[in-house]
Amino acid sequence: MPQKRIYMDHNATTPARPEVVEAMLPYFTKIFGNASGLYSFGIESKKALESSRETVADFLGAKPKEIIFTGSGTESDNLAIKGTAFANKSKGNHIITSSIEHAAVLNTCGYLEKNGFKVTYLPVDEYGIINPSDVKKAITKSTVLISIMYANNETGVIQPIREIGKIAAEKEVLFHTDAVQSVGKIPVHVNELNVDLLSMSGHKIYGPKGIGALYIKSGTRIEPIIHGGHHERNLRAGTENVALIAGLGKAVEIMKKQMEKEVKHIRGLRDNLWKKIKDKIEDVRLNGHPEFRVPNTLNVIFKYIESEAVIVDLDLKGIAVSGGSACSSKLSEPSHVLTAMGIDAASAQSTIRFSLGKDNTEKDIDDLMDVLPEIIKRLRKISPLYNKK
Ligand SMILES: *Cc1c(COP(=O)(O)O)cnc(C)c1O
Repeated sequence: MPQKRIYMDHNATTPARPEVVEAMLPYFTKIFGNASGLYSFGIESKKALESSRETVADFLGAKPKEIIFTGSGTESDNLAIKGTAFANKSKGNHIITSSIEHAAVLNTCGYLEKNGFKVTYLPVDEYGIINPSDVKKAITKSTVLISIMYANNETGVIQPIREIGKIAAEKEVLFHTDAVQSVGKIPVHVNELNVDLLSMSGHKIYGPKGIGALYIKSGTRIEPIIHGGHHERNLRAGTENVALIAGLGKAVEIMKKQMEKEVKHIRGLRDNLWKKIKDKIEDVRLNGHPEFRVPNTLNVIFKYIESEAVIVDLDLKGIAVSGGSACSSKLSEPSHVLTAMGIDAASAQSTIRFSLGKDNTEKDIDDLMDVLPEIIKRLRKISPLYNKK
């Protein structure tokens, strides 16, 4: 019998819900008209486009005209940061972000540094949390944007976005948050968070890959980064990908209904998994804040071993987990997030991220715990670090 595979890497991506796939299909074949067309083919596409926009806006507590569809969470981050930086260049050239952002934010800021902008990368404490007063202190007369993520993709740690938003508003500086990892896991309402811009992505919330959205508060000065036709209020040229947009709309619609129930289930599994790991395996440590974390993420140091070896061994058993971060796992460098939290390189290389999802079960946790203690034990036996202990 083929082995049942167990997926525990939902912060990297999630499977699209069957209802999402079904909602997309008509727009590839029957309702294929260009949404800018004046004929009925186009009007039907346009209807789907605007209906998804309303669904997403409603979910975030925004107005439909404040939602722009993009090609990914990465593109939403790029548009938010480059778009406001370029549009507000006459006001100043300073941007504040954090040292634990996703590459989509860090590398966009790095690009702006090469193009005349100055960027402050704020530190985090040992729990991976940014101090709002550091944000306040970093603001200068030339600060045009603050970009701080809502929840971290590696540790799940939640940032004090409300407080930072208040500071930004007081100082009249634009505030963007990358909420890709918080949407669907904790409440995300733009007005409560005091944000001007907010990024989200389809494939992290059981929607399709290759679709994202950016909330842009009315009146925010921003320029497009993709030039062409007049689509998306002149902010994102290119014929709208109606099928994927319909899929995102469906994912959000279902999430809104199911979130409470699913999150409760996932949190239970996650907390149980941590309890079992602590019970059965020695020399383990939780990375991130014990409380201020999204409910699905568990990031653990298994001292004296290499996370890559654990990932490969678990994969042989049909179980998918990741190391510090999906993006940096190919490079053999310690995670920038864990490093920023003051975690030494060896411990960062010994870190495994479990990110659970709605389809995980108690049996998945048991199956994992049937093999994990053995794997860790075996790897430690051959670890020079462990034997020196
Ligand atoms: C996945 C992710 C992104 C990128 O989203 P894509 O749609 O994959 O481009 C950005 N930020 C965070 C925090 C993420 O987890």
